[in-house]
Amino acid sequence: MKSLDLIIVGAGIAGVNAAVYAKRSGLTFKIFESKAIGGQLFYMERIDNYLGLKLGTKGRELARSLADSLSGLNIPIESEQVKEVKQQEGVFQVLTNKGQYRSKAVILATGSSFRKLGLTNEVKLTGKGVSYCAVCDGFFFKGKNVAVVGGGNTAVEEALYLSSFAKTVTLIHRRSKLRALEYLSKNLTKKDNVNIIYNHTIKEILGQQQLKGLIIEEVDKGNPRELPLDGLFVAIGSSPNTEICRQLVSTDEKGFITTDSKMKTSNDLVWACGDCRRRPLRQLITAASEGAIASIEVYKKVRQSYLSV
Ligand SMILES: Cc1cc2nc3c(=O)[nH]c(=O)nc-3n(C[C@H](O)[C@H](O)[C@H](O)COP(=O)(O)OP(=O)(O)OC[C@H]3O[C@@H](n4cnc5c(N)ncnc54)[C@H](O)[C@@H]3O)c2cc1C
Repeated sequence: MKSLDLIIVGAGIAGVNAAVYAKRSGLTFKIFESKAIGGQLFYMERIDNYLGLKLGTKGRELARSLADSLSGLNIPIESEQVKEVKQQEGVFQVLTNKGQYRSKAVILATGSSFRKLGLTNEVKLTGKGVSYCAVCDGFFFKGKNVAVVGGGNTAVEEALYLSSFAKTVTLIHRRSKLRALEYLSKNLTKKDNVNIIYNHTIKEILGQQQLKGLIIEEVDKGNPRELPLDGLFVAIGSSPNTEICRQLVSTDEKGFITTDSKMKTSNDLVWACGDCRRRPLRQLITAASEGAIASIEVYKKVRQSYLSV
């Protein structure tokens, strides 16, 4: 089997940009995506901070444009899930749910996924009252009683969003103060139908076929009590999708891939870009530019070229 120059794992905005620059550089490559082109764009109700996009553009609209750009540039997407990336004698073997491929270099653009609470019933009741995205599922809770767990920007944004149509929103936070930006926290405390429960964690998720409520308890004190609810939105952050490459590259203690400023990982032939990488700003604009940088660096390495781009 002939080796490609490059394999890109993930077609969120980082991976798609990497593919565009790989194509323009004339590299031979494949890009793999296990779900849909656009990744986390599907969770965004509106985008107001991506220059050049009309304010309020929906994430799925941008996802559609990414897919159009790929097909316009004649870049096929392989709808396959990468299961393992191994390096043998300087060549990468990439195993997917459908086949096996070889490449000289790899770009990891696998993004991140919502972090789970790890409670019994959480997985079983996901989609049956438990959700990780108010923009995606909030509509189903019109006039209902819901809770959000978390205390950062995402949790407060989710609670604000839900407060416009849910009957009540209870924000459960394990600390005594929110960690969200001040203006967001202020907006939330002004809402009549929002109640914040500080210093509490969730002990149990109740329900068999459908979420019925929670058992919450006070940090360090206990005192468990029942909170009847129709919905629970988990907003406790995200973790990187880096399980497939932890043997290959160094990660930080949370599993984010560490790279230099040119996106190169601890492995000389692996680059990482976007939300799977340890970086100070997890946004679309940074993910997009990192994808471009990674591809140009692969080009320089694989073709031994000294482009000054
Ligand atoms: C609710 C929400 C709102 C946000 N709002 C904004 C905003 O307003 N503005 C902004 O700039 N940013 C926003 N962000 C952040 C932004 O979405 C991310 O920084 C950006 O989308 C990251 O892009 P990415 O390509 O690195 O990863 P992702 O978008 O996560 O894409 C990674 C892709 O890789 C695929 N993948 C993973 N593992 C594999 C595998 N083994 N095999 C094949 N495919 C794989 C996944 O299916 C996914 O499609 C928001 C994020 C969220 C969750």
